[in-house]
Amino acid sequence: MDYISQFAVSLDAILGEEKDTTLYLDSHTHNDVYQEGTMAVINRYPGEVRPDDKYVSVGLHPWHVNDDWKEQLAKIRSEASLPCVCAIGECGLDKCCESDYRRQIEAFREQVLLAEECGKPMIIHCVKSFQEIMAIHKEMKPQQKWLIHGFRGKPELVKQIMAKGMLVSFGHHYNVNTLAYVASNHRSLYLETDDCGLSIRQIYEQLRHHLSSGSLD
Ligand SMILES: [Zn+2]
Repeated sequence: MDYISQFAVSLDAILGEEKDTTLYLDSHTHNDVYQEGTMAVINRYPGEVRPDDKYVSVGLHPWHVNDDWKEQLAKIRSEASLPCVCAIGECGLDKCCESDYRRQIEAFREQVLLAEECGKPMIIHCVKSFQEIMAIHKEMKPQQKWLIHGFRGKPELVKQIMAKGMLVSFGHHYNVNTLAYVASNHRSLYLETDDCGLSIRQIYEQLRHHLSSGSLD
């Protein structure tokens, strides 16, 4: 089973009462302290994958696309095929950071090629760049799944993205209507803690609260 399928949380698991046997799934986190009862994909920066890692992603974040980006990419390339690396990322595009945008695009496209080569999905950071991400997806026609993490967009945007076969994950901040739309149409969700400081259990509780108080039809 691929990484993406393993970390999809069924709506029942979110809405159901908490049980001792519940395994909490976190599709993207920067917290590498192991927590009991959770399975998480820990984000690693290039060259930082550890021998005892279980589930990690490795990628070049758009904030870190600097003069040395090609060297960083070579590090990712050497780690990408390790069995513990279940996704390439987080990587992506961000119009609100200092890194040169053209270079961000170049680095992102290289990581798309790498993900395709090693047959692994991508975890994508996207800030004010949805049109660009969708255009690259259309042009490169990846076979691997793309998970847009920390999605905060409106329902209209998520409809467009999911119609193209991409996925989204929800963390501490999101649009409640978008959450309700994805939950009712797809019956499963990706959840994440990213770097918010909450536990994945708290994220489940937050979503449960919003989904059970809102109208799900
Ligand atoms: Zn992150």
